[in-house]
Amino acid sequence: MRANRTALVLGAGVIGLSCAYFLRRAGWEVTVIDRGEPGHGCSWGTAGLLCPAHSQPLPGPGVLAKALRWMLREDSPFHIRFRLDPTLPGWLLGFARACTLARSRESFEAIRSVSSLSLQLFEEVRGRGDADFYFERRGGYWAFVTEAGVAHAREEAEDLRRNGFPVDFLGGDAAREREPALSAAVRAAIFLHGDAHGSSLGFAESLAATLKRHGVRVETGVRALRLLREGTRIRGAEVRSGDGAREERGADETVLALGAHSPLRARTAGVRLPIQPAKGYSATVRTFEGVPSIPVTVAERKVIITPLQNVVRFAGTLELAGYDPSLNKRRYRAVIAGGQAGLAARIPLEDEVAWAGIRPLTPSSVPLIGRPPGRDGLLVAAGHGMLGFTQSLGTGRLIQQLADGDEPSVDMAPFAP
Ligand SMILES: Cc1cc2nc3c(=O)[nH]c(=O)nc-3n(C[C@H](O)[C@H](O)[C@H](O)COP(=O)(O)OP(=O)(O)OC[C@H]3O[C@@H](n4cnc5c(N)ncnc54)[C@H](O)[C@@H]3O)c2cc1C
Repeated sequence: MRANRTALVLGAGVIGLSCAYFLRRAGWEVTVIDRGEPGHGCSWGTAGLLCPAHSQPLPGPGVLAKALRWMLREDSPFHIRFRLDPTLPGWLLGFARACTLARSRESFEAIRSVSSLSLQLFEEVRGRGDADFYFERRGGYWAFVTEAGVAHAREEAEDLRRNGFPVDFLGGDAAREREPALSAAVRAAIFLHGDAHGSSLGFAESLAATLKRHGVRVETGVRALRLLREGTRIRGAEVRSGDGAREERGADETVLALGAHSPLRARTAGVRLPIQPAKGYSATVRTFEGVPSIPVTVAERKVIITPLQNVVRFAGTLELAGYDPSLNKRRYRAVIAGGQAGLAARIPLEDEVAWAGIRPLTPSSVPLIGRPPGRDGLLVAAGHGMLGFTQSLGTGRLIQQLADGDEPSVDMAPFAP
C-alpha cells in the first residue's frame, strides 16, 4: 500500500468507478464525483455484453460506402445529423483514415487486449466479493437473417477462430435446435463460447457500494466545471455541488472519466480529445415466454437482445447527433424491429422502458487511456464507444498501473490520448 496519495476521479460511470476501484486497492485516497448517481449516464441501459470477441472497430474496409448508404435511411443502424460542430469534420476525417484493413486490425487488437484483460478481472473482482451483480458467462449468439449474412457469417467464424476465440458455426436449423427462441428468419448463427453478459447498472451500483465501504468518497450531484492547471500540471478540478457552491478540489492525480462529456472538460486544460457523442437506444421489457437463454446479436440489424434476469433488453443504433439526448421514435422502433427479426415470440411492448444513452466514440473506436502529452497529474480514461462495460475493469487496472508507474498489463501505445 502506498499511502497519502490522492486521486480525484471525475465521473461515476463504469469507467470512472473501475479506475477508482483499482486506485483504492493500490492504496490511493480516492474521491469520485458525478453530477448524477453512479451508473446513471451511458452505463445505465446497455445491452450488458461483456464480449472481447466483439472487438471489431466501427471503421473498416468498405464501411464508408455502407455508412453513406445507411445515411439515406431514417431507420438504419447508423446516422449522422450534420450540424455546426467544428470538431465533427476532423473526427470524420480520422474515421475515414481508420477504415484501412491495417488500421482496423490494429484497432481490433488494441480493443481486444483491454477487453480480454477486463473479462479476467470481472472473474477476479466477483470472486473477491467486490462486485455482486447479475453476471453470466454462458456464451452468446450472432444471428444472421439474410443470404449475404450467411456467407459473411462463415468468414466471420473463421476469422474469430484465427483470432483465438472458440466459436461454432451453425446453420439455421441447428441454431434453432440449440436456441429455440430464434426465429424462422435466422439462416445461420455463430455461437461464441467465451462471451459473458450482465447488468452494467448493477455492476456500477455494486462497485460504488464497495468503494464506499473501503473509504472512497463517492459524491453525487457534484458537477466538474474545469480542470485546474498550473503550467503543465493539473492539480485537480473546480466543481459545483448541488447547493450551487463552487470549490476547488486538489489531487495528485485527476482521472477524467466523464464518458461522452470528457472532451468538454479536457478543453478547459487545453487538451483536445477526439471523442464524438454517439447516441444509442435500448428498450427494456419484462421477461416473456420465448426469451433467448443468452444474448443474441441480430448481426445485419446491429441489434442485441439480452436476457437480464427478470427483464429483456433490446439495444442498438448509433447516431452522431451531438449531445441531444432526445429519442428519435423511428430509429428507436427500428431497434425493436431488428430484435423482433431474430425472435420467434412476439415482444410484449405494453410497459417497455425506452432509453437513450450517449456513448463516447473515438474515430478508431479505440479508447483513450493514458496521460495527454505535456499534462502531468492528469489521466484520461474515455472514449470506449460501444464497449465501455466490457473494457471497464481492464481500463481501471491500466489507469492504476499508469498512476503508480507500474508496467501496464498491455501495450499502451494504441491508447495514447
Ligand atoms: C444502447 C447502448 C448499448 C450498449 N451496450 C453495451 C454492451 O452491451 N457492452 C458494452 O461493453 N458497452 C455497451 N455500451 C457502451 C457503454 O454504455 C459505454 O461505453 C460506457 O457506458 C461508457 O462508460 P463511461 O463511464 O465512460 O461513461 P458514462 O457511463 O456516461 O459515465 C460518465 C459519467 O460522467 C458524468 N458526468 C458527465 N459530465 C459531468 C460533469 N461535468 N460533472 C460531473 N459528472 C459528469 C455522467 O453523469 C456519467 O455518470 C452500450 C451503449 C449504448 C448507448
